[in-house]
Amino acid sequence: MFRWLIQKTDDKGCWWYCDKCGALLNCQSGFTTADDEWTCTACGTENDVSDDNIIGEE
Ligand SMILES: [Zn+2]
Repeated sequence: MFRWLIQKTDDKGCWWYCDKCGALLNCQSGFTTADDEWTCTACGTENDVSDDNIIGEE
């Protein structure tokens, strides 16, 4: 269990949540930020996962 936490994932090193339903996108099957968008498998909403949408930790 929790194997996905240590997998090499293309998530830009941050957590991504669906804009509509709040689902954690990182753990959805096949998740990648390579295309700058990801369609939530829970509700079907397209989410912007580009660099522009990363909220910096300051
Ligand atoms: Zn969703």
